[in-house]
Amino acid sequence: MTQPEKRSVSRRGFVKYLVGLVAVLAAAVAGYGLLVRKREQSEVSQPSQKTTQSQSVTMTMPQGNADLLLTNGNVLTVDPNDRIVEAVAVKDGRIQAAGSYQELKQFVGPSTKQVDLRGKTVTPGLVDSHLHMQYYGKQFQDTLFDIRFPTVKTSDELIQTVREHLATAAKGEWVAGNQGFIINDPPDRWELDEIAPDNPLFLVHASGQFAVANSRALALAGIGKDTPNPYAGLIGKDESTKEPNGFLYHYPAIDMVRRLVPGYGVVTEEEKRGFVLTGAKKCFEAGYTSVEDVIVATTSDVKLYTDIAKEGKLPINVYILKYVESLAQSKTELATAEHSKGKNYNFAGWKIAVDGGASAGTVLMYDTSAAASKRAYVYHEQEDLNEMVAMFHDAGYQVAFHVVGDRAIDMALDAIENALKKNPRADHRHRLEHVIIPTPEALDRIAKLGIIVSTSPQWISFFAKGWQDVLGEENMKRFMPLKTMLNKGIHLAFGCDVPATPIIDPKWALVGATTRMTFDLNQIKPEESISMKEALRAHTMGSAYAAFEENIRGSIEPGKTADMVVWSQDLYSASLQQLTKLQVEATIVEGQVTYKSEDTNIAF
Ligand SMILES: [Zn+2]
Repeated sequence: MTQPEKRSVSRRGFVKYLVGLVAVLAAAVAGYGLLVRKREQSEVSQPSQKTTQSQSVTMTMPQGNADLLLTNGNVLTVDPNDRIVEAVAVKDGRIQAAGSYQELKQFVGPSTKQVDLRGKTVTPGLVDSHLHMQYYGKQFQDTLFDIRFPTVKTSDELIQTVREHLATAAKGEWVAGNQGFIINDPPDRWELDEIAPDNPLFLVHASGQFAVANSRALALAGIGKDTPNPYAGLIGKDESTKEPNGFLYHYPAIDMVRRLVPGYGVVTEEEKRGFVLTGAKKCFEAGYTSVEDVIVATTSDVKLYTDIAKEGKLPINVYILKYVESLAQSKTELATAEHSKGKNYNFAGWKIAVDGGASAGTVLMYDTSAAASKRAYVYHEQEDLNEMVAMFHDAGYQVAFHVVGDRAIDMALDAIENALKKNPRADHRHRLEHVIIPTPEALDRIAKLGIIVSTSPQWISFFAKGWQDVLGEENMKRFMPLKTMLNKGIHLAFGCDVPATPIIDPKWALVGATTRMTFDLNQIKPEESISMKEALRAHTMGSAYAAFEENIRGSIEPGKTADMVVWSQDLYSASLQQLTKLQVEATIVEGQVTYKSEDTNIAF
């Protein structure tokens, strides 16, 4: 799903068509043409100003003739002055200079490759501050059948897909879909039993916040009526009989089944290496040149990244946050963990989940009446959370928190504040992931404590309609206030969050952040829109900052790594319609082309 079809849809018909979250997403395919036309009427494109005259080319390194000279481009440098230049010189994988051709031709030597960009726009390579690259790569293996949106959009389609795969499975064999479905009314254990009486069956929601399993699968996992909930997890139960209904909430409960499933818990080392490389390839196609994998669940998965990197085979730079589930686990792991950093890898932080997601009903809110929080519970008591955070903080690590609801955000802030009070540390760069419904007071605390907000503005377009339904108008007034955050001086970083979101393409982050448009033609708090310059900066320098890498990547400046993306449109002047059609023409990492579109006419 990339290009929305252009077709006429009456507004009434269109709105009727939107039933909940699935429809909101389906509309990304069917309805964007209408949205675009509506938007175009009131939009005046601002042509970008290209600087061809010298505005000081500060050249620090490297010296000598360039290996590569990009010319005739519209290069958005994202340097401190947001300079736009026409040429970039690259030497030894780093930016040698950015400026006019006149200025840069001095770097041309006999071995310099010159590439005419034909006026195309170049930006720094996008840095993704929040995804799960290893587990995203996992979604494309044959062992798991495809139930990701938009392959599956309804409960009927899900059941049909399961049936098709059961037909090819031997009796007793595991049957599992990839991560995952986005539907409002997923079948429960007994409905799955009807279609899969003889096979263990496991299906996980796209968000990763809950899964559903049939009776055979629950039996293999040893989950019965008297099975206690695992720490921070929740085994769904039938209200009257108290029998497990197949739904498993949050990773610890999901993992009771997932660890047994071929393609998930049961995979070979070789297959896991494949996931990493597939994930990296998909990132290059999308225009990411560096990523932050914010849930690496096991020490062996951390080692997988570092091993591949040490062998020189990790094609993309990966910043690693190791996930921890409990205070007990934190203590054990911290005792043996080592901050390790090398070419293309940096394990420098830990991730803690404080709440869940809207689809699972596990968003921790002060307003407990919202459907999004109907099942919400505290994963970690405040005291335990404080202790976990203080431990990691004292050991010099960065700590990142999955926080969606206002109460979860405040719990994380309390824990960070507590750690900083006991042990002040400048430049800690602790970070909050998502931050969907903060209170105004929380924003002030985030700013004051110098905390990074790492979020996914594509959620505005993809999910805001669905969120409105489960959070209510009043809570939605506080939905992802990006402009307010910038005004308060909060560091913003952007990431796509695949596989928890259906689309990897970062153009939807740019659309969401700059237009606040949802796929059902509404704008959610348009006054919280930020400019394209601000959005691009958040997705490059901001995300690099979240990984302590703003001095080596995130802008096209001399000495920085030569990571760049060539786009089909100028980002600064693109209309919404053009933005929705934005394509990556080429991705360049350390001066080497790692992805090239079949459609590009640039001769790399
Ligand atoms: Zn995530």
